[in-house]
This record gives sequence, C-alpha cells and structure tokens, in this order.
Amino acid sequence: MRAFNPLLEIDLAALCRNYRRLAAATPSAEAAGVVKSDAYGLGAAAVARALHRREDCRTVFVAYSEEGAAVREAVGDDADIFVFNGPYEPYLDVYRRYRLTPIISTIDQARLWTTTMAGAPVAVHFDTGMRRLGMPPYEIESLANTAGLKISLVMSHLACASDPNHPMNARQRDEFIAIAARFPDARKSLSSSGGALINETFGFDMTRLGVGIYGVNPFDAGATAVEPVARLTAPVLQVRTINAGDAVGYGASFTAQRKSILATISLGYGDGYPRAGSNRAAAWLAETRCPIAGRVSMDLIVLDVTDAPQQPQIGDRAEFFGPNHAIEEAATACGTIGYELLTGIGGLARPRIGLGARVERRYLWNGAPADATIAGE
Ligand SMILES: *Cc1c(COP(=O)(O)O)cnc(C)c1O
Repeated sequence: MRAFNPLLEIDLAALCRNYRRLAAATPSAEAAGVVKSDAYGLGAAAVARALHRREDCRTVFVAYSEEGAAVREAVGDDADIFVFNGPYEPYLDVYRRYRLTPIISTIDQARLWTTTMAGAPVAVHFDTGMRRLGMPPYEIESLANTAGLKISLVMSHLACASDPNHPMNARQRDEFIAIAARFPDARKSLSSSGGALINETFGFDMTRLGVGIYGVNPFDAGATAVEPVARLTAPVLQVRTINAGDAVGYGASFTAQRKSILATISLGYGDGYPRAGSNRAAAWLAETRCPIAGRVSMDLIVLDVTDAPQQPQIGDRAEFFGPNHAIEEAATACGTIGYELLTGIGGLARPRIGLGARVERRYLWNGAPADATIAGE
C-alpha cells in the first residue's frame, strides 16, 4: 500500500559527507556536531549516532540538558556533550547523571558549578558581539578568580557568519583571540558552519557544525558547499480542472488566468509547512515546478499542475524541498530560512505515525533504508 502521509526522508550518508566537507575546511580543528532542536528537526539520536559511529565525531553540542541526556543515551559514554544554555539548579542532577558539560555565561553559573559539582569541567562562553548568551569581556578577572573552576573550553559565537565578507567576523575573531589568551590551558572554539567556511583563521581548536551538515548553505548567498540531506514530499489526494476566473482556497486569494489543472496535496501548516508560502512557494512534481495556488491550509495545499507534461495520479508525491528543489529557495519563498523550515517540519515528524504526528521521518543511507543500529529510535 502507498503511504498517504507527508514524508521527511533524511539521507545520513549525505549528512556524513557534509560533515567531512565542513571539517576539511579547517583541518587543524576538531569538528563537533551541533544537534540542538532535535538536530534541526532531523532527529538528534540518529544524527548523533551517524556522526559518532561513521565519522568518529566525539563532541556534540545541544541547547538544553534534557537534550544532552537523550544524546548521551544514543551515543554512549565516549563523547563530550556540551550544553549551550548553561547550568541551572533544577537540572544539576541531569548534568551529573549524564556527564554533561555546561557552557557557563555568568559568574553566578560559575559559582553554582564550583559549589555543587567541584572538579567537573566547564566551558565558558564569552560574548564578542552577539549580545545573546555569553559573559561580557569585563568579567574575565572575576571568572579567573573563581576558585576551583576547571575550564576545558572557551568559546564565542559569530553574529554574521552567514556573510563571509561582513567586517564583524574579523572583529569578533580578534576580540576572541585576546580573551582566549587569558585561558592558555583551555581549548578554543569560535565558529559555526559559516565561520568554518570563511577561512582557516576561524578554525581555532574546534568548530561547531550545525546547518551545513544538514544540507543548508551556511551562507545567505552564493554557491553552496554542501549537498541536500532532507527531502519533504507529500501525496496528491485529488486532481481537478477549473476554468479561467475560478478562485482557489480560503479568502479566494488565487484566481485562475486560464483553464487550469489543480492537485490537492496532503500537507499544510499543521505539519509545519509555513502558511507564508501561500501563492509564493512551489513544489516539484516529477520534473515540473508547480506553484502553490491560493492559501496553505492546515492539512492541505493546492498546486497548479497545469504545466506538468502528465496529469498527476492520486498518490503521486510532490517534493517541497530536496534534491530537485533547493531548501534555501523553498525557505526564501516562504519568507524564512532553511533553519526554520527544517526545524518546523522536522519538529512535527516522527518515525511512527500516530495522532498528532502525520509527517513520517525515514532514514536513508545513500537512498536505501539506513542501518537500524544508527536510525532506530
Ligand atoms: C546553533 C549554534 C551553532 C551551529 O550553527 P550553524 O549555523 O547551524 O552551523 C554553533 N554555535 C552556537 C552557539 C549555536 O547556537
């Protein structure tokens, strides 16, 4: 029987190749994987296992301690798991139990750690221009004077890594060099996927690779250094012909200029596909670009398939992003970026379909079903 649900296919072999490409850009740095937000919607357990078992990636970053616990269970003991959002009292047990390393951003967090978890290493995040998380540079002395703190990693984060020519990149790098010099025994990390591709002076001891390994161009413009990893398809539920002048969908926001063929697709904003793609984004049916006609509904999207050489059949799959339709382009048409499109769809995808989860996640290895020891959840 053919599946009639939206399908998010994730090729873990492509993901591993992207990891190698980005790692090769800064050969003297260790390449760590960033698997926050359930690996950008692609599944943190499977992604962390693929990187760990196939690429020997031994360092992983997550946003929350609970995510760190799940990754620890997936990859086992021989990995370092860093938590961006720092330690908070209610979660200290999670850090202890799953041997997670917090990334501290305040002096209070440093004190909390030394008084409750003496001897366990920490990372420190310094703010060099992002003004989000991170310790301001004027707190270096207080930090250096916090007794008992064992700092294994000093990091910062680039605000403009998606534009390799932005002057802020070099400014943040130089400020980071000055700060890091104060911690000669700690390893150093500045760059995400974009930073890793600017040039080798951004590599330091470790890069933190996220979006690029998931197959999204880390730069806002220009050719991409990575290949697609995820493919979103959804099936045709109904095909109809309408006349010139007929309107389509809620608010009658699309009016056919000619006699048209429409295909109604089983996908909507309830599955995480952005409603902002109404009348702007498109999907591919076989080789043909088919624009979205009218508004994206909760569970349905209507495509104008008039220009397809063959009328689609019920159950045929339209590709909303993937190898035929670049995710960057799909995201732009929806007024967003690849990061948000992936996490939005993937956040609702599950390996098994049940109530509340229609998008099925399926892991592949070069197009064939992936090894269950990596992909199993
Ligand atoms: C998300 C994140 C990364 C990874 O960024 P990408 O652009 O996805 O490679 C690295 N470092 C920090 C602090 C992050 O929040």
